[in-house]
Amino acid sequence: MALEDVLTQFDAVIVGAGFAGLRALYSLRAMGKRVCVLEASADAGGVWYHNGYPGARCDVESYDYSYSFSPELEQQWRWTERYATQPEILRYIAHVVERFDLRRDILFNTRMRSACYDEAGARWCISAQDGRQWWARALIMCVGQLSTTKSPSYPDQDKFRGRVIHSGLWPKEPIDFSGQRVGIIGTGSSGMQMTPVIAEQAAHLTVFQRTANYSIASANAPVSDEEDRRIKASYRQRREQAWNSPSGLGFVPNKQSALQATPQEREQVYEQAWRRLGFGFALAYHDILLNQAANDTAVDFITRKIAAIVHAPVLRDKLTPRGHPFGARRPSVDSGYFQAFNRDNVELADLRQWPIVAFTEQGIRTQDRLHELDVVIFATGFDAFTGSLLRPEIKGRGGLTLAQKWSAGPLTLFGLAVADFPNFFIVGGPGSPSLLSNVLVSTEEQIDWLVQLLRHMDAHEQVEFEARHSAEHAWVEHVNERARQTLYLSTDSYYNGAEVAGKPRVFMPYSGGVRGYRRLLQNCAARAYEGFDLRGQPAAACADARPQSAAPPHG
Ligand code: NAP
Repeated sequence: MALEDVLTQFDAVIVGAGFAGLRALYSLRAMGKRVCVLEASADAGGVWYHNGYPGARCDVESYDYSYSFSPELEQQWRWTERYATQPEILRYIAHVVERFDLRRDILFNTRMRSACYDEAGARWCISAQDGRQWWARALIMCVGQLSTTKSPSYPDQDKFRGRVIHSGLWPKEPIDFSGQRVGIIGTGSSGMQMTPVIAEQAAHLTVFQRTANYSIASANAPVSDEEDRRIKASYRQRREQAWNSPSGLGFVPNKQSALQATPQEREQVYEQAWRRLGFGFALAYHDILLNQAANDTAVDFITRKIAAIVHAPVLRDKLTPRGHPFGARRPSVDSGYFQAFNRDNVELADLRQWPIVAFTEQGIRTQDRLHELDVVIFATGFDAFTGSLLRPEIKGRGGLTLAQKWSAGPLTLFGLAVADFPNFFIVGGPGSPSLLSNVLVSTEEQIDWLVQLLRHMDAHEQVEFEARHSAEHAWVEHVNERARQTLYLSTDSYYNGAEVAGKPRVFMPYSGGVRGYRRLLQNCAARAYEGFDLRGQPAAACADARPQSAAPPHG
């Protein structure tokens, strides 16, 4: 008999079989919970399943962007490159799925449509697009922060005779760009990663740039046997270092201010960081993301790096980021992005100067000319943080939907729980370190905490957990306060909802770091889950459990 026919009552339904969902499945199953994972795609991997574009790789080092829960797994898996490619990460995920026998509890090709909280039963009723339903005590959302793609729509787009592909929904079959005229719209991490690889294949590549992006040269290299042995011999220490670093990347930020160093010292520090740290370049001095003058010194260094690579002066000028501090929008880590523009077959279309007017049968018309194309790639990003959480209709107490609750911006406690939505848990939700951290570290941190919470509830025969409104408001205030101490608010970005027209302009990730975040979670647990109501009976009848029209603290 099929899984879906026999198992309709679960302790938890997990939505999403990416890194977070797989880890949640493993950990909850290890507790003896009856768990089922709903996954919209045909296989596991989440964003790594879908982002198979040429050049896709992780910009966190492989040994850190991997699970820490199993020392045996750590010892057995052999990474081949310092920064793993998407195919290697997918192989790792497949290995984890098989090794821990996770597949049997995952329903693939199953997209969640809605969930409704049954207040009397203290449980969720979860429905799939195809009408199947499941009951579960807890609903655990592991849907990712960058999983709902965002595509512009231009006049006459449907008339284009060529192919249109989104980087985040990359087709599974190999695409041969040889002899093709390719256009890439977007110069975030995805566009910057694919540009040099496609440039080598395509007859002609046009990169349509709206905003020039900062990027650090990738210090990628093959991992030697000696390096692999060395890392594995002290893997626990490496993990400890990552857990105790603010970013989860293991780098201890330089405590010095960029402004205290002499220009010569700075040059040396930046050069070393550039050669080795990748994303960690932003931590070369502690105040790069806090102070504009300090940031300017990093910008000056990066600008000179770009200038040394790009030969043509006009092109160099256009590719140089301006108008936003380094790191305030997500920078990229690239492998030859700027070098690609020295090739004869690569062209930059500056959309600030000549915006796109329309698609035509032949390609894209900008205000100055027609770009004839066979393929257009939208590397235009995602509806970040909230897109995949708001796609299904999730109804908490009194029929309040998550979309209604978050109409002025997301409200959460620790980015993982929501008042009026009992037994609802978000991994990597808005208000957690998520995209401002090594996301694997913050993911495991949250799931370990959830396991601890569920154990506590079992021991005390409790059936319902729910964030209190007061604690939720205090947390959102704290997230905003931490953001105000940084340069993140000084520009538009997907961190603050600017990537989607009409989206509430609220800073979403927690910038206080994974170490501080873990301390706060632990304090909460140590104080009997301060900020949460934990109940032995469903609170349906209690007046204080009904949805309150609380004024959102986003201001
Ligand atoms: P993104 O950073 O949001 O970049 C989207 C790009 O598309 C931007 O350059 C944006 O320009 C442009 N764009 C959007 N709408 C446009 C329009 N209507 N017309 C012209 N240009 C438009 O998206 P992404 O590159 O897919 O990256 C998203 C995130 O995924 C990254 O920041 C990173 O967190 C993650 N990622 C990680 C890795 C990794 O190595 N781990 C690799 C790839 C992606 P504007 O800037 O002007 O809006």
